[in-house]
Amino acid sequence: MVDRWISKRTEHFDSSGIRRVFDLAAKIENPINLSIGQPDFDVSDRTKEAAYRAIREGKNGYTLTQGIPPLKTKLQKKVDDEFNHDDRELFISSGTSGGLTVAMLSLIDPGDEVILFDPYFLVYPSIVRLAGGVPIIIDTHPDFRIDINDVQEAITDKTKAIIFNNPSNPTGVVATEEEVRGLANLAKEKGIVLISDEIYSDFCFDAPFVSPAKYNDQTIVVTGLSKSHAMTGWRVGFVHGPKALIDAMLRIQQYTFVCAPQPLQWAAVEGLDEDLTDHIHAYQKKRDLIYNGLSDLLEIARPCGAFYIYPKAPGGSGIAFVEKAIKNKILTIPGTIFSKHDSHFRISYAASNETLEQGIESLRKLIKS
Ligand code: PLP
Repeated sequence: MVDRWISKRTEHFDSSGIRRVFDLAAKIENPINLSIGQPDFDVSDRTKEAAYRAIREGKNGYTLTQGIPPLKTKLQKKVDDEFNHDDRELFISSGTSGGLTVAMLSLIDPGDEVILFDPYFLVYPSIVRLAGGVPIIIDTHPDFRIDINDVQEAITDKTKAIIFNNPSNPTGVVATEEEVRGLANLAKEKGIVLISDEIYSDFCFDAPFVSPAKYNDQTIVVTGLSKSHAMTGWRVGFVHGPKALIDAMLRIQQYTFVCAPQPLQWAAVEGLDEDLTDHIHAYQKKRDLIYNGLSDLLEIARPCGAFYIYPKAPGGSGIAFVEKAIKNKILTIPGTIFSKHDSHFRISYAASNETLEQGIESLRKLIKS
């Protein structure tokens, strides 16, 4: 009876695919879990202490919509030092997801087309539709590289934005500087908003990370500390871009998310001073472990960043392979969550080395069987 009250909009949020995997996985005792999208290290003690301190000192109320001044100023300085753009402003969002949602709601009108690359981070098509936009999907299989000609062909007079995620979830592929420059210049030339999701930018192993904002000063960058500082539950992200667009996003944030949690914004001020080198090296080693452990048996586009690899499924179907793997206690995610194709599956190597070694051994057995 109450079902008739549910809005049509919710139909764009179909989580049945991933729920099916989690339901199957919940029945497995002691699984080898290679499905998780968050680091296996914890928030540092120093950053935790800063959060406890903020709570004890009563820093528990609302903050300014744009975030607490010490965090905003510190991030703005980093951004200014990096890009040196005259018109680049910043605000603290409720995680990167909050930043993406606010960006969509303030930029996309009904009927606007938004270009996405398949495979994509699973929420992109849904949040585009939430804003009334139309996702236009460019296929990047099998090498997951961005072909500027494909983007050029996909652009119409309705194209409003491009969402670009680099390093990529789910493939772990990192775009070359040439690809990034090509996309940045094309967006600028065509007057299209380029939204760059840089949440994995610290996890870039083989070459320095390059933001399209280096080439296109109108790029909107959405990012956050969830992955770099292992604080996925703390909801601290930030967005920077041209001032007029940031002002529009703040109007939406003020009436929706309001602000990111205050004590955790104070903790983030401390977190930004942390040296992440050891974590990044450890993740590079995990990447080597999993890639070297499986690449003779599986077709895998070389993963240079984030903490995922995206092999082609033996037998052809990602769903069938993931279900078979679950029966062997290995949890991974089928590519259909991120793609129109049922051909790949995602392995997250954000796990202990022991789990990764078990996973490699079990996957090798399964593939050979
Ligand atoms: N963007 C990408 C590409 C992601 O993979 C994720 C999380 O998995 C997010 C955004 C969301 O990040 P947050 O936890 O900061 O909202």
